Amino acid sequence: MATFKISDRLQELSAKGEKFVSFEFFPPRTDDGVTSLMSRIQRYNDQQPLFMDMTWGAGGSTSDLTLDLCTRMVKECGANANMHLTCTNMPSEKIDIALKGARDAGIRNIVALRGDPPAGEEAWEAVEGGYSCALDLVKHIRKEHGDFFSIAVSGYPEGHPNAITKVQDEAELTESERERVIEMEDGLYVCRDGDFQKEMEYLKAKVDAGADLIITQMVFDAPVYGAFLKACKAYGINIPVVPGIMCIQNAGGFKRMTAFCKSRTPAALRAAVEAAGDDKEAIRKVAVEHGAQLCRDLQAAGAPGLHFYTLNLEKVTLAILDALNLNKVPVE
Ligand SMILES: Cc1cc2nc3c(=O)[nH]c(=O)nc-3n(C[C@H](O)[C@H](O)[C@H](O)COP(=O)(O)OP(=O)(O)OC[C@H]3O[C@@H](n4cnc5c(N)ncnc54)[C@H](O)[C@@H]3O)c2cc1C
Repeated sequence: MATFKISDRLQELSAKGEKFVSFEFFPPRTDDGVTSLMSRIQRYNDQQPLFMDMTWGAGGSTSDLTLDLCTRMVKECGANANMHLTCTNMPSEKIDIALKGARDAGIRNIVALRGDPPAGEEAWEAVEGGYSCALDLVKHIRKEHGDFFSIAVSGYPEGHPNAITKVQDEAELTESERERVIEMEDGLYVCRDGDFQKEMEYLKAKVDAGADLIITQMVFDAPVYGAFLKACKAYGINIPVVPGIMCIQNAGGFKRMTAFCKSRTPAALRAAVEAAGDDKEAIRKVAVEHGAQLCRDLQAAGAPGLHFYTLNLEKVTLAILDALNLNKVPVE
């Protein structure tokens, strides 16, 4: 078993100036899906990531499976699991059961999140006897479990989607808003400076409550990450901020996810994805070339590591690692 607190290793890595990679997965819906994911996780683990994440099903849909898969990651693959835990539909007793389960399985890392609303629901609401945001969850984990867990929290370089609004008059955008502005099919969107300030103050509160690491929403544009790093410093946030990189798999998924997350995307990338269309080879080429360049730019901007949203797939992520010479075993 190779579990350890990410926070302990981060200090060592930063002292040596070494960068890391990490990979994220979600619980599959079928038994066959679980079997094939476990073999993938084993192969991903051969690349010696610092940690591997398993998301928590929105609305608690696959939550038992999350703990089960993290336990298997540790026991069967010798991996360092980073278990996501959300407040959605989770009264505090269920949170405590999940944390105890993680502890019993030797899992030392938790990503503390509010969570998305359950499928089909628009607004997020706290369940009776539950927590209302990630900040409350971080406080609870520290209160009940002291320093046992390393805790990661989310960060949003463009602002959280709920705090992003449509731009009525482009001429009114401030310089900092221009760094975050998002071009979508129906116009421009931005997290206004006043709202961004609240976002940063809230992020600082999560850090002060005991978070050790920030993992960002998927980033497609290195400058928006660079601006976020500067904003973190300005707000006294001095823990590592790891960019999340979504590996593009197809044009439809790229459009859906970037619209849902309100991610800033370079015009050249949107054009390349559009031009590739349904051609699988063409889209893979765009995904790998853009992904590798983005990673280089993120590292140049100061990223302490690279966190890949694998979407439970393998080829694009591993090809990006290969292109960056970050693979530890040959990529086929
Ligand atoms: C790295 C990462 C991993 C994720 N993993 C999962 C997962 O496993 N399962 C899943 O369902 N979803 C996941 N998500 C999505 C996430 O659950 C949603 O983005 C959700 O809408 C917000 O969760 P959060 O933890 O970021 O919320 P929080 O950090 O609690 O807050 C989100 C936003 O709400 C506002 N807010 C909330 N509380 C307060 C407060 N007290 N004061 C001021 N403002 C407040 C702020 O604008 C804040 O940015 C993940 C997101 C990221 C970036």
